[in-house]
Amino acid sequence: MAEGDGNGWADCGQGHRHWGRHGAAGLLACAPGHDGQTSVLLILRADWTQHAGTWGPPGGARDSHESAAAAALREAAEECAVPPGAARIHGLLDDDHGGWSYQTLVAGADRPFGVRAASREAPRVAWVPVDQVGSLPLHPGFAVTWPVIREAVEPVTIIVDAANVMGSRADGWWRDRAGAAARLQHELAGLAARGIIQLPAGVRAGPLDRWFPQYILVLEGQARAAMPELADADGVRVVAAPGSGDDTIAELAATTRGSRVVVTADRELRRRAAAAGASVTGPRWLLDRL
Ligand SMILES: [Zn+2]
Repeated sequence: MAEGDGNGWADCGQGHRHWGRHGAAGLLACAPGHDGQTSVLLILRADWTQHAGTWGPPGGARDSHESAAAAALREAAEECAVPPGAARIHGLLDDDHGGWSYQTLVAGADRPFGVRAASREAPRVAWVPVDQVGSLPLHPGFAVTWPVIREAVEPVTIIVDAANVMGSRADGWWRDRAGAAARLQHELAGLAARGIIQLPAGVRAGPLDRWFPQYILVLEGQARAAMPELADADGVRVVAAPGSGDDTIAELAATTRGSRVVVTADRELRRRAAAAGASVTGPRWLLDRL
């Protein structure tokens, strides 16, 4: 195990020769532009590299000890100065060639962030609107995955009706609502880190291999006493409803960018969430994954 031990060529089961002895990974950062259309961050490969003159996400060889996400973020920082924390990973596509794979980490940002060509390998860097990507000369690997990734550039947010989900399991929540809320938040943080392989039915998004939705846990009433204890974990935001939890959830369902899923069995809230353009699923879907 050593830094850079992934640098080298590998032959895949499809008869190609790829850079990256342990596979490779790239970061596809996505952000809404002024006109609301999503743009993606691409680099132009220098004319002395393999697939010279083609565009694709920043990325490169994985070291033996590195996760795909760590490799993608490292390469994005090296090639176009993507700042730490600038984009949140929300999905993974694994393009497995047999014996070698390229993993694309799809990541969202609230707006395009500043980047620059920081490596000799990538003389140009640009935010490209999604409907213009197809007219660029694309890296052959990216050309294959782009039609799938294009359907997954929007983030997915799962809004959890904490009172309803907590009420769906008999774990003593009625004796200590704040403690039950803290347990649920802890479990959601684990789920946020693991990701899920399938989104709830009805969510319109491309078929990635893994999704890392953002979770919003909405607390109301006595459960709000858990708030001081609950720091926002990576991937889980906790919101204390000032009044009715349903009102806060309906507002989040209406105003959150990208695809929204409300988790509740409450019929009236399900109707309000659907009217706000969100998908709806029951507590069982979430509890089965915790
Ligand atoms: Zn291959």
